[in-house]
Amino acid sequence: MIMILKFVLFFGGVLFWTFLEYAIHRGLGHNPKLKNLFTVEHLLHHKEVNYFAAAYKKAGGAIVVVGLLTLILGLLMTWVNGFIFSTGLVSMYLVYEIVHSRLHTHAPQNAYGGLLRKHHFYHHFNNPDKNHGVTTIFWDKVFGTYVKPEIKIPVPKRSKLNWLVNEVGEVHPAFSDEYCLV
Ligand SMILES: [Zn+2]
Ligand SMILES: [Zn+2]
Repeated sequence: MIMILKFVLFFGGVLFWTFLEYAIHRGLGHNPKLKNLFTVEHLLHHKEVNYFAAAYKKAGGAIVVVGLLTLILGLLMTWVNGFIFSTGLVSMYLVYEIVHSRLHTHAPQNAYGGLLRKHHFYHHFNNPDKNHGVTTIFWDKVFGTYVKPEIKIPVPKRSKLNWLVNEVGEVHPAFSDEYCLV
């Protein structure tokens, strides 16, 4: 029973990250009224899609958020349970960092990878007010910001998504139904 509770707490932390990922991206990254360090870094990522914020900046933000969360949960539950929840959250945060980076640098390996890339690059290149989730489309569906990318996604030539383009600088035939260069 105790093991199940610990698993539920860990998985709760994982799910809570997917919500935070959505909320931070939409609420801080794309809110002109809340100009902050995250907004600046995120808009740079939109402008230069191969730009990712420096690891020390991300680590600084993560330590503050996770530290506060662990403190609050530790006071509400027990320190051990708060720590397990935070461990789930941090684990999924690391997965998010890897997934986001790979969306930009690697071709999809399966249908879910293809779906996440279209979701994310629709957000990048078509409508930054939609499709904020990176590891899941779930929260976009919950909060009404989901758009199924049914158009060919217009990728600027200068963006250099290397996996998308072949040796002669055209969209790789495997992706030409879903993306075009502009
Ligand atoms: Zn991105
Ligand atoms: Zn964005």
